[in-house]
Amino acid sequence: MARCDQGYLCDVCGQDVEQITESDLYLRYVMGEVSPLALPKERERHIRCNPATAQYIVDPAFEPVVCSGVFAKEGLDAVFVHEQEDRVTRAWQRLQEIPTLGIPITEYPLPEVQAAWRNQTTV
Ligand SMILES: [Zn+2]
Repeated sequence: MARCDQGYLCDVCGQDVEQITESDLYLRYVMGEVSPLALPKERERHIRCNPATAQYIVDPAFEPVVCSGVFAKEGLDAVFVHEQEDRVTRAWQRLQEIPTLGIPITEYPLPEVQAAWRNQTTV
């Protein structure tokens, strides 16, 4: 996140979301779950403060997050969990690279998300 006077406060813990790399909102944007138009209006959260999504990030550089309750991946269909892990982990890895890529925000999403958007007449 850009450091501005207002800052972006996490909807869950109330702390500053200082970096785009720790932003749940931008992670979901990279996955295509948030449209570019909705991005400025959505609430901000830390990735770690949203265990239902963060539990699917499987990377040595990411300390695993455990999600309990009905959304815990241990209780979900193995094929679904595998697909989620692949998709969320790739999105997280891309998000970690974004600050060094020097690309416009419209090119943040995963390649398949950008392709899908190009094929739509409306977003
Ligand atoms: Zn938080």
